[in-house]
Formats: sequence, structure tokens, C-alpha cells
Amino acid sequence: MGRRTHPVVPYVAAALVAVLSTLALLEVHRLEVDRRDEAVRAELVTQLGAIRARLESALTEPLLISRGLVANIVQHDGIADREFSGLTSIMLADYPVIRNLTLARGTVIETVYPEAANQAVIGVDYRDRPDQWPMVERAIQTRRPVLAGPVKLIQGGTALIGRVPIYLSANAAGTQRFYGLISVVIDIPRVFAGAGIEAERLPIRLAIRGQDGLGGVGGMVWGDEATFADHPVEMDVHLPGGSWRLAGLPKAGYDTDLRLTHFLGVFIAVLLALIWFGIAHYIVSLRTARWRASESEGRYRALVETAPMAVCAHRDGEIFFVNEAAVQTLGASDADQLIGTNIADVVHPDYRDLARNRVDAVLGGGGRVPVVEQRFNTLDGRCIDVDVVAAWVMMDGEPAVLSVFTDISQRRSAEIERESLVENLRRSNEDLLQFAYIASHDLQEPLRNVASYVQLLGRRYRGKLDQDADQFIDYAVAGTKRMQEMISDLLDYSRLSSESEGAQPTDSYAVVTRVLADMAETVRASGAIVDVGRLPVVQVRPHELARIFQNLIGNAIKYAKPGRPSQVRINARRDEREWMFSVSDNGIGISEDYRDKIFAMFQRLHARDVYEGTGIGLAICRKLVQNIGGRIWFESTEGEGSTFFFTIPSAD
Ligand code: ADP
Repeated sequence: MGRRTHPVVPYVAAALVAVLSTLALLEVHRLEVDRRDEAVRAELVTQLGAIRARLESALTEPLLISRGLVANIVQHDGIADREFSGLTSIMLADYPVIRNLTLARGTVIETVYPEAANQAVIGVDYRDRPDQWPMVERAIQTRRPVLAGPVKLIQGGTALIGRVPIYLSANAAGTQRFYGLISVVIDIPRVFAGAGIEAERLPIRLAIRGQDGLGGVGGMVWGDEATFADHPVEMDVHLPGGSWRLAGLPKAGYDTDLRLTHFLGVFIAVLLALIWFGIAHYIVSLRTARWRASESEGRYRALVETAPMAVCAHRDGEIFFVNEAAVQTLGASDADQLIGTNIADVVHPDYRDLARNRVDAVLGGGGRVPVVEQRFNTLDGRCIDVDVVAAWVMMDGEPAVLSVFTDISQRRSAEIERESLVENLRRSNEDLLQFAYIASHDLQEPLRNVASYVQLLGRRYRGKLDQDADQFIDYAVAGTKRMQEMISDLLDYSRLSSESEGAQPTDSYAVVTRVLADMAETVRASGAIVDVGRLPVVQVRPHELARIFQNLIGNAIKYAKPGRPSQVRINARRDEREWMFSVSDNGIGISEDYRDKIFAMFQRLHARDVYEGTGIGLAICRKLVQNIGGRIWFESTEGEGSTFFFTIPSAD
């Protein structure tokens, strides 16, 4: 059996594969996102580049115009208001993006064109306008134009303002003089529209920050500030005195498609994980099933191989498996000696038809056939009796027959031996009884003759011979009388039938009562007291039960202690499947040494002149009780009394 890996291993492997495939999927997805991002960003860069170019030119152009004006002022070492308005009107005619132009001398606005709508700014000192002064100051200090704004205009609205400082030519000391500055007020919607920057026309989402040319850190100039937070493509626009930062995003957002692929990826990853876990589960259950199958097969194989019964599997008669017990039973040296041979070879020729029919029945009925006795010829030349059972089995995917057999030769010969012993015993018992009967019967006749002649002798010659002769005659008479009694007892004993015929439900109480009535005279004469308990109905021949009681009660009265009349008690109690009767007395008792002796024929413990009797009573009792199927025994204490017990099987 292979080493069994821990069942959790395939799950760990599946989890690992699932994690790895998810990571791979995520990586593929990330690459795809990057690829698409790259493409979108490239497109955005192109778009933003175009926008930057347009913006730079649209915003630089108005400032360039003012350059001409500055040149004029420097050349004439200043400019009159009227002249400024004149020149400006000419210039502005071509540039509708410029809302107005102001001229400040020093830091105070003195002239504005067009004058009508912008009167409010005249006289304003930039120094008093903290919102405008920093950029103005920067232009003055850097001596370069700057683009400020968006700026809230004094005359209302917001605009971009180009601040162009004017320094007049160097004086005698060689230093340039600050004259003032020109502010070009640029209309934001127009300049943006001119650069093609209108939300609905733009192919991308655009936002611009960089108020006062501060680039990425400046305030918003155009569009939605949120665009900057959405990972846009960014690009700087270089403007006079600073820069703006453009932010561009695809209009539809980056990732509608990608989100879909993202979800698809997650879905596929989950699906893959499920599939891997499914496969792992399948592998585990397959392995578990296989392991269980091999384990149970191993268990059964071990069971069969070590079973004390011989097991032999055969297909089409050919043996392909035998266990150790079969090897031994069939007298082979090892399994190989049997494998490949035909099962019919070991079956005794007399039993081959039977064996073949049983195999057919097993295969035909698909079941099993009951145990039968057969005879096998073993490989080592013995002939054995076996109990065989055959069953249909599936082995290695094909039907086969399993024969299980046990060698019963020893049991059989023991049975035969026992049967013959029982038969011998029965016959010798019968012979003995027959002999006893014949002997006693045949002896009676000559004995009767001897007795009658001895009696005749006594009657005729008593007193006529000497005293010894009279005594001898008396002995002869007594001897023949005793012999007659014994022969009569023997005849009686040999007539006891071992048949159970005539057994009937018998009220043992009634039997005892009748026996006591028959013995009334004996009981009365001895002064015995007989006490009878509750007695059952038993299945016996009534006269035999009467005879048992007669002997036992008779003995109980007879063997009383001198001077102490007997107290006899008769009882019965149920003990499992039999009734146990007891007859107890308070007589002389019996020594343990005579436990068996007293049940033997003619065995007595006392002289005839002390206690009368022939010694046959208990022998008859034992024979009768044994015929009924019971046992008889006694318990006694010498000098105190005895109890005789006997059992009778209960009828129910
Ligand atoms: P028998 O009474 O004719 O001698 P039994 O076979 O009835 O013959 O008894 C055998 C012997 O067992 C008796 O001689 C006697 O010694 C002894 N025996 C039987 N019953 C009793 C008893 N109840 N008490 C004492 N001894 C007994």
C-alpha cells in the first residue's frame, strides 16, 4: 500500500495554483492597463502638445504687439496720451482678443484705450492694488514682460494681463530709467477660443493652472480643478515671465473598458480558483475512495489469509487464490502448488458431479449454496471429509467462485467412534439386564425346590436329630429365603424399563399421598411424622414416581435414630429447567465415604438384624431417575439426618 499523503496537500496545491494564476492574471491585466494607458497617454500628449502650441502663440502674440509701442516710447523718450491712444487704436483693430491697453507712468495708470469703458482705472496706482502689484513689481524688477492673471479688473470682469515694463535709454550716468508700463488686457474667452480651447470642442478633458505664471503651484486658470487629481497627463506652457500647467484626461475617462476587464479578470480568477478547488476536491475524494478500497481490500485479504477456514477462489475450475489454511488442508507444500490446477482434481471422484452442479448453481443463481459434506483427495495422498460452502464473488473485475471448506475428518471419525461406543454400551447393558433377568428367572425354579425341600427337612426332622442339625436346617431355610428375596429384587430391577413410553402429566403430591396411604401402618408403627410441601405436576410414569418416593420415605423412616421417631419432610423447588425434589429426615445419617456406594445394587451399610433390607431400593431409585433424565444424590450429617435429592426435567 502506498504512503498516503495528507488530504490537505491537494487543497494547499490548489490554493497555491489559484493564487499564482490570480497573480498572473493580475499581472497580465496590469500590463494591459499599462499598454492602454500608454496609448491613451500618447494620444493625450499629442493633444496637449497641440493645445500648448496654440496657447503659447495666442498668448504671446498680444504681448508682442505691445513691443512696437514700447519701442516707440523708448525712441521718443516718452509718449503723449493722445499719441498713445492713436497708436493703440490702430493696433487693436486687428486684435479683438485685447480688451484694452493701459499706460502707466511710474506705477499710476494715466491713459487707457478704449477710454470710454475703462475710465475707472485712470489714476489707479498699482501699489495700492495688492492683487496686481506683485506681478507689476516683478515685471518692473525683471525688466521683462510678464503675463498676470486671471485678474479681477477694476472696471469689472476678469482677464489676463500682460505687463510690459518700459525702460528709457541710458542717461549720462549710463542707467536706464524706468518710465512706466503698458498693460495689455486680454479677453480670456476670446483668447482661448482663438487657441481652439473650448470645452465642448476639445477632444479631451482639459484643465489649466498657473495663475500669474506660477505653473503647477498657481491657482486655476481654466477648467475643472479635479482633473489634476485624476492622474492626468501634464504639460507646461511657457509664457512670458512664467508658465502654466496643462492637465489632460480622456473625455470618457481612462478605464471604462479596463474596469470591465478588471471585473472580468476577478471573475476569471474566482472561476479558476473554484475549478482548482474542484479538481483538488475530486483528487482528494478519489484518493480517499481508493485508499479506503485498498484498506478494506487489505483488511479482507488479511482476514481471508489468516482465517482458520480453507478458502480457495477458482474461475472456470482453475484455482487462482488459496489461503494458508487451504494449503495445509489440501496437503500442499505452498500456494503455488495449487494455483493454476483444476479444483476438480482435489474433489473425490464420487463427489465431482455434486461439486460441478453446485458451481453451476452458484454461477447461475449469482448467490451461494449451503454447506454440504464432500470428500477431497489431498495432494499428499490422503482422503479427507470436508464441509464445503460455495459463493459467487467478483474478483479482479470478473466473476469467480469462492469455496470455503473445513476438514471434518477428525470430527467424523470421533463421531463414528462415539456412536459405536454408545451402541456397544447399550448392547452390553441390554445383555446384562437380559442376563440378570434370565439368571434370576431361571434360578427361581431350582431355588424354590431347594427351599421347599429344606423346609420339608426342617418340619420332618426338627427335634429328631441333634441340636446342631436343627440350627443348620434353620440357617439353610433363612439362606434360601434371603436368596429368594434377592433374586426377586434382581428380577424386579432387570424388569425396569428404560422406555419413556407411558409418561404423563402426573400430580406428584397425589402420588406421595397415595404412597403414604399404602405405608400408613409402617408410619403409624414407627411414630414418624411426615410433612409434605407443595409439589408440582411432572411428566413421568406415575407408578415409577411412586416407587421412588416409596423407597426414599421408607428409608427415611427405617433409618431413624433409636429412640427418636423420624421427622420426614418432602419438598420440591423449581431450578431452571428442572424440578428438584427432596426427602429429608433426622435419622442416623450417612458417612460421606459411602456417597456412591449406597446407590449400587445390594450395597448396605448395616447388618440385617439391625436394619432390615436387601440394598436394592436406592439402586432402583437411581435407575428410575436416570431413565426420566434426572439425577439423584444425598447430603447428610452423621447422627443428624440425611436429605435425598432427585431431579425431574420440567415439561415446559
Ligand atoms: P436397604 O434399605 O434395603 O438396605 P437401600 O438401597 O435402600 O437398601 O439403601 C442402601 C443403604 O443406604 C442402606 O443400607 C443404608 O445403609 C443407607 N441408607 C439409605 N437411606 C438412608 C437414610 N435415609 N438414612 C441413613 N442411611 C440410609
